[in-house]
This record gives sequence, structure tokens and C-alpha cells, in this order.
Amino acid sequence: MRPRSKDVSIHPPTWYFRAREQVGRAWCLHDQDGTPAERLLQAIWFHQRLLRDRLQTTDGRKVQVVHPGFPNPEGGPDFRDALVRLGDGPVCRGDVEVDVRPRSWWEHGHDRNPRFARVLLHVVWEAATLAPDAPARGNRAENPPPPILPLCEVLDAPLPELALWLDRGENVAWPEALRGACCAPLRQLDPGQLEELLEQAAAARLEGKILWFQARARAVGWEQALWEGLFRGLGYKHNTWPMQWLAEHRCRWAEGARSVTLLQARLLGLGGLLPDEIRHLPADSDQLLRRLWDLWWRDRATLEDCCLPRNAWRLHGVRPANHPQRRLALVAHWLARPDWVRSLEIWCTTEHAESDLAPSLLRLLQPPSDPFWSWHWTVQSTRLPQPQPLIGEARVTDLAVNVILPWLAARARTVKPPLLWERLQRWYFAWPAGEDNALLRLARQRLLAGRVPRGLLRRAATQQGLLQIVRDFCDHANAACEGCPFPARVREWAAAAQGAGKED
Ligand code: SF4
Repeated sequence: MRPRSKDVSIHPPTWYFRAREQVGRAWCLHDQDGTPAERLLQAIWFHQRLLRDRLQTTDGRKVQVVHPGFPNPEGGPDFRDALVRLGDGPVCRGDVEVDVRPRSWWEHGHDRNPRFARVLLHVVWEAATLAPDAPARGNRAENPPPPILPLCEVLDAPLPELALWLDRGENVAWPEALRGACCAPLRQLDPGQLEELLEQAAAARLEGKILWFQARARAVGWEQALWEGLFRGLGYKHNTWPMQWLAEHRCRWAEGARSVTLLQARLLGLGGLLPDEIRHLPADSDQLLRRLWDLWWRDRATLEDCCLPRNAWRLHGVRPANHPQRRLALVAHWLARPDWVRSLEIWCTTEHAESDLAPSLLRLLQPPSDPFWSWHWTVQSTRLPQPQPLIGEARVTDLAVNVILPWLAARARTVKPPLLWERLQRWYFAWPAGEDNALLRLARQRLLAGRVPRGLLRRAATQQGLLQIVRDFCDHANAACEGCPFPARVREWAAAAQGAGKED
């Protein structure tokens, strides 16, 4: 029997419950036909509010869900790294896409999107409309439609009831069963122990970055190693590799380039990021683009072998402030200053108050106002009502803990001025927290059940420590944490700490 709105009954029917029920209904039901919204289906899948022993694909295979996967807040399938067994097959690891209707596989272009290549299950509300809607694309489809699992007959409660009781926001509380196996031992630690554990992980992360810079400096020199780190950092998570490529060819494109505009022209030209179409642009964009193309035309032939295709970049879903055009415009300002690297070294030889660490570095990394880039996110975007800085404090923190402090620390350690090394370590552990992101949110939920002791993540180092645990342990285990040694190590560490405390 398909559950409908009227199936729900909540006691006692007070004013508050009735008001809440209306909200739940509005959120969960699209229209009169009682079709649920996609977000509700996602919540149902995530919390597995299903008759789990009755799940079956439309082609008749039994579905056993070992793990529903992790919510994916970025582009691509809704859940990553699920563990699912279909029929008598083995437990497979892959992604899960949730849509109201099966035809969304084609309508939303999932069949042509490489990010959907690992989808092993398409979860839908009902499958009745599949056959007439499947387009005749023939061999053109890149991702064949995955097995379809309809939910409408297998909910464990009526739909409006689920809508009322399931969390809806980004900070949705994870069901107990989906938390990491380390969640329980971590919860046993007192806030001071947890902080110490994260700091130790952060120290391991810093050490890894120092070793990377030392190795890279041996191969290409200290300054080149720094530029590569900065370019990668400015590539953010999606465009690290094209940025690295550009940095690696610095000796070619930086030769003889002293002006900001010439450097911007070369970097944008090499990156394939200069738009070909100049017509119909606002006057200031048109003017800049003509100037950049004029400069780039002269150099293009000699730099041809370093050019990147435009599709080397991932631009979909990138925030305007993080657009590679804008990042390259920024780095051109730094490169145009011959004393820029030296100014970083001078910055670290001066003592800064903890509260001035990020602001003092921001002052150094913030270029003077740019007549075009301070007023436009990208080459083609319209003029902004207010000027926007080319770099903000969040990006500065990111560059500080991932690139600048590790690079300076690597240098300090190599030339052995112990005071500088100690200062850089102190700064690393005192640096204020960076911007929250999807990976940190996921780690907080999986490892700490979303319950973070007050103030624990107010420093970048503890955030870095959390990310390092994900890198060191979660990335080597499956969603069910099978074989992960971290929980046992935490228990041992806590027991040893307790024993040491008793002896004291
Ligand atoms: S894989 Fe290991 S570290 Fe990650 S959540 Fe599971 S138990 Fe914790």
C-alpha cells in the first residue's frame, strides 16, 4: 500500500503539532499527487527509513544496503562510497543518485556526466514512468542507466511523518549506525585529550608538507617550490593540476615579463582562459580583453608547447571569487614584484601578535587596487557595485597553513635558525581557523558525531588535524570502517594517558 498524507496521525494534536505538520507537508510534498521532494527522498535514503529487507530493483534483484554512502554536497551523485549488494553479487562500493523519477537520469544529463560513472544504484520514488521516458540515445550515452530502486512501496512510515521527523538542513544529524567506528572512543576523551590528539595529527600534516617542500626544493630550488605550492593552493581543490602545470613552466612564461598586465595575458593565454568571443561584452571587459589578446598574440607561438586546453579546468560550480581567471590575475600581481618572495621572508622574521597573524599576512598578499579585477569577478562578468579584494582572509589562512608556513618552516629547518623554526611552529598552532568546508563537515559528523567541544576547532591546526585523520585512516577504509586501526589506537592512547595520569 502506498503511504499517503492522510496516513499520518500525531498525538496529541495540539496547535504546535498542527503547525509543524503543515511545514512538514509543505516541504515534503511537491503537489497534489503526493510526490515527495528530492531532498526528502535523500533524507529517507540517508537515514534508511526503509523496509530494508524488502528492497528490490526494477529488474527483480534484491538490494542489501551495507552503507548508504556519504552525502555529497558538491556536484555529482548525491551519495559517495556506498556499499551495496545486488542480488547474489558481491558487496560493491560506488555512488548512489537519488531522483524523484528514473527519467531524471537522462533529463539531468547524468548519462553524459563522467562524475556519475561510479553510480551503482539509482534511487527513485517510483519507477512506473521509466519506459516511455527513456530517450533513444543509442551508443551516445556514456553512463548506462544504473539499476533502479523505487522507494514508494518500502517506506517504514508514512511520507508526511517522515518529513516531520527527519532532519532537513545541511547540519543534519547522522544516524548512530552511520558514524565512524572511532566515534565512540573519541567521545570518551576529554576535550583536552581530543585537542592534543588533533594537534598531533596536525603536526604530522605539517611535517608531511615540510618534507614535500624540502624534496621539491632539492629538485627545482626554493623559490620555484614556493611558487608551485602557491599556484596549487590557488587552484583550490578542483584546479590544482592545471595550476601546477602553469607553475612548472614559470621559467618559460615569466621570462622578461615585468608588468602585471603582461603576466596576466600570458597566464590567461597559456591556461586557455582568454575568451575568443569579444563581441557583446561590457566596455571595460572589451577593453581589457583586447589588451590581453594583443599581448598574448605576440607570445603565443613561442609558448605554444606550454598551453593548456580550456577543458583542463573544472569551472562548473566554482565560486566567482575562486575562478581561475581571478586567481591568475592575483598571482600576476605577486610575480610582478621582484621583492615579493623576500617580503615573505621578512614577514616571518618579525614577531606578530597572535591576533595580527592573519591580518599581517593579508596585508602582504593583498595587491593594490586593480582597475579591472577589483571590479569584476571574471573577464566577462559585469561590473560589481562594490570593489572586491583579490584575496580574502579565508584564502590567506588556507595558503598560510598549507603553503607559506610549511615552506618557511622547511627553509628554517634547512638553514637551522632554531628560533625561527620554533616561531613558525608556534604560529602554525596559533593560526585562527579557516573557512568551514564540506570535508570538515563530513569529518565532524563521521568522527565526532557533530558534537565538537566548544572552541576545539577555533584554530586552523585542529581543523588540519581532523583532515589529516581522514587522509590517514578514512581514505584507506571503506564506509563501514572495516579494518581501520584508528579506533583501537585511540583506545590504547586514552588508556595510556589515563595510566600516566594515575601515576602522577
Ligand atoms: S575509517 Fe577509521 S578514522 Fe575514519 S571514521 Fe572509520 S574508524 Fe574513524
